[in-house]
Amino acid sequence: MITSAYIHIPFCEKICHYCDFTKFFYEEKMADEYLVALENEIATTINKPRQKMKTIFVGGGTPTALNNRQLLKLVQMIEHYFDVDQVSEYTFEANPGDLTKEKIKILKNHGVTRISMGVQVMDDKMLEQLGRLHRIKDVYQNVNDLIQIGLTNISIDLMYSLPNQSFEGFSKTLEEALQFNLPHYSAYSLQIEPKTIFYQRYKKGTLTKPPEEIEADMYEHLRKEMRDHGYISMKLAILLSPDMKVSII
Ligand code: SF4
Repeated sequence: MITSAYIHIPFCEKICHYCDFTKFFYEEKMADEYLVALENEIATTINKPRQKMKTIFVGGGTPTALNNRQLLKLVQMIEHYFDVDQVSEYTFEANPGDLTKEKIKILKNHGVTRISMGVQVMDDKMLEQLGRLHRIKDVYQNVNDLIQIGLTNISIDLMYSLPNQSFEGFSKTLEEALQFNLPHYSAYSLQIEPKTIFYQRYKKGTLTKPPEEIEADMYEHLRKEMRDHGYISMKLAILLSPDMKVSII
């Protein structure tokens, strides 16, 4: 029996320099066609409406790259096929910068319980270097809007061991991110993946990551800061209680 659903929305407003996920530049017409195909796909898998699920996760790409009309169509489609009122967690991935108040309200009004935001680093120069669309001010704006509208189960993703990132730079990002006091944080060290802009630069020798010792120091610092702020790792949290403050590192 299917207990969890993952729905992929493969569109982004901008393609980040390190990203090897399945994604395309957002185009309204292509996204419309994708939503039609998605509904057909769900209908062939789910044989009756309002199927019960434990969790639903809508990821990408960037689901919030869809315009308001398309986002509404997507959440209504999900509501039709899945019983969103009884799921224990219904998550949407979002990017700071394209998560408007209108989009937050659409998500909240249609049963979404959790937002996972790709923040990556609290440093505008680093964000530009990564090819990200957003800037730090967008993160503050989105966290404020989400809390104001009542979607308070927020998770943010961070990255470390970035090109030109010092230990102190990462430490500052972590400190600033932790002051939001969110229920969940994830942190990943940058991997240089084939078929990305970073990979091309890495091969040419124009891009380097911090030395391994610095990356290890960042990891140890991350673990310590998470523990000191009362977070426990995901594995332990699943064993103990789903409501605990969690970090994935
Ligand atoms: S927003 Fe996410 S999925 Fe889209 S290009 Fe950037 S990292 Fe990849």
